[in-house]
Amino acid sequence: MGIRQKAVTRAFGLLKGTGLGRMMAPLTQGCGAVFMMHHVRPAKPDSFQPNRHLEITPEFLRLAVERIRANGYEIISLDEAVDLLKSGYGHHRYAVLTFDDGYRDNLEIAYPILKEMEAPFTVFVATGLIDRTSELWWLVLEQIIAENDEVVLTQAGATNGIPCATVAEKNACFDKMVDYLTLEIGELDQRRIVRALAEKYKIDLKALADKLAMNWDEVRQLALDPLVTIGAHTHEHYAMARLEASAARADVQKGLKRLEEELGRRPKHFAYPYGKSHAVSMRDADILRDIGFASSVTTLPGVLQSANARDPMMLPRVSLNGKFQDPAVVDQYLTGAPFALYRAARWAASGFGVKSGFSRLFPSTR
Ligand SMILES: [Zn+2]
Repeated sequence: MGIRQKAVTRAFGLLKGTGLGRMMAPLTQGCGAVFMMHHVRPAKPDSFQPNRHLEITPEFLRLAVERIRANGYEIISLDEAVDLLKSGYGHHRYAVLTFDDGYRDNLEIAYPILKEMEAPFTVFVATGLIDRTSELWWLVLEQIIAENDEVVLTQAGATNGIPCATVAEKNACFDKMVDYLTLEIGELDQRRIVRALAEKYKIDLKALADKLAMNWDEVRQLALDPLVTIGAHTHEHYAMARLEASAARADVQKGLKRLEEELGRRPKHFAYPYGKSHAVSMRDADILRDIGFASSVTTLPGVLQSANARDPMMLPRVSLNGKFQDPAVVDQYLTGAPFALYRAARWAASGFGVKSGFSRLFPSTR
């Protein structure tokens, strides 16, 4: 376990051991929570897993649903939750389960579990992944770095390549490349570079999407069940805020159009790809409102508070982080305390350079 991961575990231990989370709950827990997940599948033994936070095991999914209910929360559809949020308190607390991107394990592994447990859920589908035209670039990077001792990213101006022989080097290389691709260059250049890398390192992008993402028949199979809501997640899975307004709108519209064509139904809810501050802006919320969505969820960490009713285009979510698959963590999340402390630490960090272990809990997601 790394130092930062230990810090998070200690922070949770403190919240639980001192009862601080429970004490803060009346102030911080709000009216509900929208949980965010990506993959649900058995754990892999590999030592290099830079995307591990994006996957939980089937056993943990079951435990998490049990813990959510044991805490007195009713698991309801996103539609119902948005209605309740807008209408105010007066209902018992509620939780929503959401899955981003459209992975096949959502159908093959998560769906049978949630069906058996009678838990409704939403899958936000990035239609370019289902059409096999968009790139799972973070998994391409993982595969290239896992299979090589050095990665040459000529576009970054690096002449000697980035070493990635050891696990520590591989993790550092991944972080460096993600920073470069998501912060330093634009979204279109990012995809150009990833396609060039995939070609150079012999990774078949379509085969990767075929292996991991649902096809349209599979999405339709899920969509047929009233337990399941299909939401929109753009077509290309670009970070909206990093595009020109017209391009951001066009990517959302294209995703909507493909979902309507394939499913015969127009989704009412949207999830921002990546969903953190660099990927989401008020301009994008305005675009989504204008298009007519009933809600949009971010990956900004937090539970639902009555104040969120003022802007359902910017709802926070609780990420079930694959690095911390402990039912006690679900209990703490539902108190809302970790998020309040995280925000306080971020506020403090902006003035005093203090870093919080909690920041490790809420890494960038996809
Ligand atoms: Zn996504």
